[in-house]
Amino acid sequence: MLLGDVSVTLAAEMWYNLGLPEREHPMLCPYCEAAISTVQLNNLSVHAGRTEWVGVGYSCPICMKILSVGIDPIAIKTDIVDEILAALRKQ
Ligand SMILES: [Zn+2]
Repeated sequence: MLLGDVSVTLAAEMWYNLGLPEREHPMLCPYCEAAISTVQLNNLSVHAGRTEWVGVGYSCPICMKILSVGIDPIAIKTDIVDEILAALRKQ
């Protein structure tokens, strides 16, 4: 499942949910040190031997350097649901 490139607002919502004032926002890019309130989300493939997963990369919207990479949780959820449904249909 590919999501395409989207901009995700993370820090502002997390900060709001914690009830902390926005002026104390500590999110600084570790590379360019810009204060950021969004990250750029990009799809990428994650390979481990012959296995391939849909992955996501989170980049600074200013310098575009990668802040984090992981397996796409939505794709994992979809795969698990598909496998469970396929197993139930075999019964
Ligand atoms: Zn940056």
